[in-house]
Amino acid sequence: MQAGPSFGRAVILAVGSEMLTPLRTDTNSLTITDALNATGVEVIWKAVVGDDRDVLATVLARALEDAALVVLSGGLGPTDDDVTRDVVSAVLGLELREDAAIVEAIAARFAARGWPMPANNRRQAHVPDGAVVLPNSLGTAPGLWIEHGDRALLLLPGPPRELAPLLEEALHTHVRPRTGGRRVVRRVVRMTGRGESLIDELLQPCYREWAGREVPVRATILAAMGQLELHLSATHTDAAQAASAVAVAAAEACACVGRDAFTDHGESLEAVVGRLLVDRGWRVAVAESCTGGLLASRLTAEPGASRYFDQGVVTYSNAAKVQWLGVPETLITEHGAVSDPVARAMAAGIRERAGADVGIGVTGIAGPDGGSAGKPVGTVVIAVALRDSVTSRTLQLMGDREQIRFQSAQAALDLVRRIATP
Ligand code: ATP
Ligand code: MG
Repeated sequence: MQAGPSFGRAVILAVGSEMLTPLRTDTNSLTITDALNATGVEVIWKAVVGDDRDVLATVLARALEDAALVVLSGGLGPTDDDVTRDVVSAVLGLELREDAAIVEAIAARFAARGWPMPANNRRQAHVPDGAVVLPNSLGTAPGLWIEHGDRALLLLPGPPRELAPLLEEALHTHVRPRTGGRRVVRRVVRMTGRGESLIDELLQPCYREWAGREVPVRATILAAMGQLELHLSATHTDAAQAASAVAVAAAEACACVGRDAFTDHGESLEAVVGRLLVDRGWRVAVAESCTGGLLASRLTAEPGASRYFDQGVVTYSNAAKVQWLGVPETLITEHGAVSDPVARAMAAGIRERAGADVGIGVTGIAGPDGGSAGKPVGTVVIAVALRDSVTSRTLQLMGDREQIRFQSAQAALDLVRRIATP
């Protein structure tokens, strides 16, 4: 191993005032986190900082207290509001010098376009004393690697396509040799059907067991729309050992949770349902009201969907339910379009007309209008017809229109999954 800092923990600072507006989102920190994690470095905090010298200086000083490695993105441009280089030099007390090779490279980029080099681009050739220059073949601002005592800083240009190759190079050349070769491997278990706290309680003994293993596995539970995710990670110098530790933990989590777990390796619900349908040799047809085609869209999102998906109709009006699915009109007048009998008739109707093995019907009130005391917004009925037997569920979903529509499709897919699971 080389001398110099060892990088267990890092802080990321994304510099740029545009990311403090709703118009631009900081995505570089996600790219950087992913690359650092894969290298065995944990990100302990990150911040988005505007183009403000004082604020950046304060935040940078704090970052250097907390972590051996600080990665900054953006603010390396040629204009006065690009402050990263100046602030880093000031905080570290390093002189800035003009680097002739960088001036030449920038001038060459302009010459290639037949333009003269603007004077302010020389700013991008200013390098703090002792910094290693990471040449940027896709833009004018080079990256910089700076070692300072037991700390190191990596400065990367803001444009994502310029950042990515420089990040890779810096990790390869400067970071990886000093992490003791640690690798982080992750795995995601996904679940439906039960609430976060219940699942968390169920998994408590697993968490304790995993934490005490020879290759410890860390677990975080996250609620996403219509599903829960258990994120597992393990760190080891041998990536295969880390992978096997998370694979074992994922299998244990699934065994503990039972049928509510639908994947132990990050698959989407539609992918799992598609696989089950192929295994069963079942073809499916769908009749949708409130989901407006979302269910058909998700069922066809996976490559190879033609093996199990036959057709889908959006029967939004009452008349369409009668016309395309043969739902008896009396059923609608008697029970309403959002009712168990109508959902069942939709599922059975589309199955029969398509000549499919499985028919799915979805009808509900996505809101914001259209609810009543007896059937508030979020009342959704799903039905799955498998040959002559029909299974249905009436749900009371929460959220806005988009959330209700998504969860309706999710619930329909999940009901198919449960029916198709041997
Ligand atoms: P340049 O020489 O291209 O000016 P720079 O380092 O100054 O490099 P910025 O001016 O800060 O880069 O950012 C340039 C563009 O890169 C921004 O307009 C934005 O689109 C994108 N960008 C910057 N930071 C981020 C970030 N954290 N996440 C995503 N995109 C970013
Ligand atoms: Mg900028």
